[in-house]
Amino acid sequence: MNDSRNRISRSDALKGIIVLPALAVGFGALTLEAEAAKASKASVKYQSHPKGSQKCAGCRFFIKGKTASANGACQVVAGSISPNGWCVSWAKK
Ligand code: SF4
Repeated sequence: MNDSRNRISRSDALKGIIVLPALAVGFGALTLEAEAAKASKASVKYQSHPKGSQKCAGCRFFIKGKTASANGACQVVAGSISPNGWCVSWAKK
């Protein structure tokens, strides 16, 4: 019986060792690029408190944090975003 077809060669293993970190770096670069494409807090007049009844938790662009009160992120504004924040790009969910 020849079970060599089921074995992973040393060169295949080395390719995996090289390729996986390269993919991770590539994904990280894409994430950074996406974050850089977002508007700055200053450019959208972001504030860490609501404006009247409008706040990030009720905005269609808000990305929830780990808990309801934790900071999250925003699809269009860079950085950590408070669920109680607000900016001029606010749009109702
Ligand atoms: S667009 Fe503005 S209001 Fe809406 S979640 Fe992002 S930072 Fe908050």
